[in-house]
Amino acid sequence: MKLIKTLMAALWISVLLTIPAFAADKTCCEKAKADGKVCSHKCCVAAKKDGKVCEKCNPKQKPDSNKTGGQNK
Ligand SMILES: [Zn+2]
Ligand SMILES: [Zn+2]
Repeated sequence: MKLIKTLMAALWISVLLTIPAFAADKTCCEKAKADGKVCSHKCCVAAKKDGKVCEKCNPKQKPDSNKTGGQNK
């Protein structure tokens, strides 16, 4: 049963490698918020005035963005 142990270890390593990638995927605004501050970027401040979040710095994450192209309706 050594093979299963090796597979489990490999799986764990891939999971552990994935977590920091998610943690590092923070926007400037999220980082500022985590520090208890407000993002000082001009674009973010302007967006906040309008009660929005800066779309430039906080692009909406698409769950699956496989563009085929040329399929605009
Ligand atoms: Zn920002
Ligand atoms: Zn911004």
